[in-house]
Amino acid sequence: MRMTEQRAAILNYLQKTYVHPTAEDVYKNVSKNLPYVSRATVFRNLKQLNASGKINEIDTTGASRFDGHIKLHQHLVCKNCNAIKDVSTASAQKFTNKVPPKISNWKIFSAKIIYEGLCTRCKR
Ligand SMILES: [Zn+2]
Repeated sequence: MRMTEQRAAILNYLQKTYVHPTAEDVYKNVSKNLPYVSRATVFRNLKQLNASGKINEIDTTGASRFDGHIKLHQHLVCKNCNAIKDVSTASAQKFTNKVPPKISNWKIFSAKIIYEGLCTRCKR
């Protein structure tokens, strides 16, 4: 995969943030520094970065969210405000995302654990 200026800017932004932005959020942030970049270019680059394993796409209800931190970790998703946080507590980390290479004769290449609930602000 060729690292274009746009792609590098997208990857750089995603590696610095922990908010797990939507594609639209990525576009807004990247276009601050690259005003001529198009929404379609950003969306296409996000798909390509995800396909090549440089970022992760998180499936939640609503718009897909993107994560530039690809070291194995899990997510907490607030069902009220859609905030996504990385899980870092030891108690949650003992449930790993690692899977055996084969289940029911399938070739398995990933597994995801998403904890759903209410964030500290929404649970009040
Ligand atoms: Zn994350």
